[in-house]
This record gives sequence, structure tokens and C-alpha cells, in this order.
Amino acid sequence: MKIGNLVGLVGWRGMVGSVLLDRMQAEGDFDLIEPVFFSTSNAGGKAPAQAKNETTLKDAFDIAALKKCDIIISAQGGDYTSEVFPKLRSAGWSGHWIDAASTLRMKNDAIIILDPVNLPVIQNALGKGGKNWIGGNCTVSCMLMGVGALYKAGLVEWMTSMTYQAASGGGAQHMRELLTQFGTLNAEVKGLLDDPKSAILEIDRKVLAKQKTLTAAQTTNFGVPLGGNLIPWIDKDLGLGKQSDESGWGMSREEWKGSAETNKILGQGAAFGTAETPVDGFCVRVGAMRCHSQALTFKLKKNVASADLEALIAADNAWVKVVPNNREASMRNLTPVAVTGTLDIAVGRIRKLAMGEQYVGAFTVGDQLLWGAAEPLRRMLRILLAA
Ligand code: NAP
Repeated sequence: MKIGNLVGLVGWRGMVGSVLLDRMQAEGDFDLIEPVFFSTSNAGGKAPAQAKNETTLKDAFDIAALKKCDIIISAQGGDYTSEVFPKLRSAGWSGHWIDAASTLRMKNDAIIILDPVNLPVIQNALGKGGKNWIGGNCTVSCMLMGVGALYKAGLVEWMTSMTYQAASGGGAQHMRELLTQFGTLNAEVKGLLDDPKSAILEIDRKVLAKQKTLTAAQTTNFGVPLGGNLIPWIDKDLGLGKQSDESGWGMSREEWKGSAETNKILGQGAAFGTAETPVDGFCVRVGAMRCHSQALTFKLKKNVASADLEALIAADNAWVKVVPNNREASMRNLTPVAVTGTLDIAVGRIRKLAMGEQYVGAFTVGDQLLWGAAEPLRRMLRILLAA
């Protein structure tokens, strides 16, 4: 039976939601649907310009209103999903739920959606009556869009990923906080910066003193300064238990997702009755605005020439862009500033490492708000509408 086109949109005002609306507009998705806009904070307010018949915001906690939708896309966040999704299903709603939050990702009846990488997994689940479609972790999705070819070719024995994740990964408020901190630090030494004869150590000391005395209000979102700093921990602390049950080995939850989600997206691991590929590393927040960057190390199952690896990666999908491994190209094309706002996934620095012929390094940059968040959601909508 054809899926209806009454589509509820929740969380459209946030960072992911705003990018999602932009992309849906650009791709003509609104021509195919009847949108209903929901809000957790402004029910009764005016819906955005894309509204057609329903021009007033509905209450995002109103189960009866949500139940009318054939498809709901939520970019509102995990707390919202935890509260509303079970109530909606218990109320008998059997529509399709497309979500950016991680809450449902690892549930058995949920598929992590990244169709250029796992369309067969999605189609198989759809054929079996699947209804829960969850966007992957942003870092994992961007990584697989970049180097998924190596996994598909069965070449990867293991991989480490050392990430450099942008402030926007935390949402709209986090971006504002980073920029405000940069402004505060600049203001602290503005007079000294304007004087070319001022002592650099005095500037350095004043900046550090300001960073260390930023108020709680100035660090509400990240908890510590991010401007001129980095934070080597993202998401919850899973403690020191066993690794397999999401409680372990001194990992952050973001690091745990690397292995769990990569394997689930690829349709491999215990749940599929096959072996997992180990993926591990450290996830670090840096003061970039958009784009998650990652330094990857692979141990390959066999020796493959770098040029062949480049060709394999380049041919995988329409968005991956291999950047030649030289200084000029890397500085110009392999940065968050170069990639932000595009659907390109830049992959460069592809080279053999000193540990041996089967060890390969690569560096990848992707706009996590596009392939890491909004894009798979709107593409899943298209898959459902075409089903
Ligand atoms: P966000 O920017 O904080 O937006 C979430 C909600 O916060 C909005 O829909 C809005 O809800 C409310 N909000 C409160 N103050 C706001 C303000 N000043 N500006 C805009 N919205 C404001 O969060 P997000 O980054 O979009 O993340 C949404 C979900 O996607 C989360 O589950 C996140 O884990 C996931 N995700 C995020 C990324 C990423 O890179 N950011 C990537 C992948 C997945 P109301 O309009 O109802 O008030």
C-alpha cells in the first residue's frame, strides 16, 4: 500500500532542522508532501514559509495531532523522542518515524539510515514492514560516506578514528557559545592586539586568565571553554565495565558509537550473525563551526597500492571527493572551511604508514549537518514516498 504524504515535522527550528528545511526546499521535497509543523515551545505560533494548509504550529506533545501523520520527521532531540515516541506507538500509531536523535538507533526494530552506503539494508527492512528509520551518528555517517568503499570491498581488518568535531555537533546554542567566547577573548586583548609593539606573552597570559575565569553562563553548553581550547570527551562517560553492553573500557559514548553504529549500518556483527570490524579511537571537540574531521588509520586485510585505494574510494558515490595527498591541495580542500555547506565528503592524506604495507592513513572532512544529520532523513522520506 502506498504511504500517505501527511508529514509531521518536529525540531525544524534547531540546527539540524534548519539545514533539513533548506535541503528539502532545495530538492523540491515540499512539492510532494503536505507538511504539518510542530513545536515544543511555541504551539499556536506561525508555521514557517513552507507550510501549505496547516499554517499554525501544533503542539509537539499532542499525541492525537501527531497520530494523524503518515510520516513524522523529528530533529528535536533524544529527550523528546524518549518521551513522545513510546506514547505514540502505544496509542496505536503505525506511521513511519524518521529521527535524527540517537535514542532508538540500536533498537532491533530500527534501521540506521545512510542509503548511499546501506540501501539494501533499508529496502530489506522496508519490505519486512519496518517503520523506524534513524539517522546515524554524524561522525560515523560522514566517515562511511567517505571511506565506505573500503568496508564494502571487505578490505578493513580494523580502523581507528581520531576525530576533530565541530561546535555545531552540539546544536545551535553551542555555536553561539563558541563565537561569544571568541569575541570575549578578543575583547580582552583588543588594545594589545592593535599595538604591534605589545608583548605576545602578555597577550597570551591575559587570554589564558580570561579562559580560566569564564563564568558558568559563558560556558553553559560545553561546560568548559572551547574558544582557544579543545575538549577530549564527547557525550556520556560509559565507565569501566564491559565494552559490548555500552558500558565500557573508559570510553565516551561517542567513541562507543563508532564501532556499534558502523557495524550496524553495514549490516554486520552479532545481530546479523557475522563478525564485527573493530572500530575505536578518541572523539575530540574542537573550535570549528561546522564539519567533523577525522584522522583514520586502517589495518587492511591485504596490501593494496595507495593509488588503487584512492580509485576505489573515489568511485564509491557521487559525493566523495578525493583530495590529492599534497600540502597545497590539503590546505585548500581538506578543511572544514572548504567543505562546510556542501554535500562533498573530502577524503585526503591517503598514504601508507610506517607500521607496514597494510597500514593506511586517511583524513576526511564532512559537513555533519548534511550527510551526518539532515540529508539521510530527507532521502529516507523520498524512499518512503516512492515505495
Ligand atoms: P538544537 O539546535 O539544539 O535544536 C533542537 C531544538 O531546540 C529545536 O528544534 C528547538 O525546538 C529548540 N531550541 C531552543 N532554543 C533554540 C534556539 N535558540 N535556536 C534553535 N532552536 C532552539 O539541536 P540539533 O543540533 O539540531 O540536534 C537535534 C537532534 O539531532 C539531536 O538529537 C542531536 O543529537 C541530533 N543530531 C545532531 C547533529 C548535529 O550535528 N548538530 C548531527 C546528528 C544528529 P522548538 O522549536 O520546539 O523550541
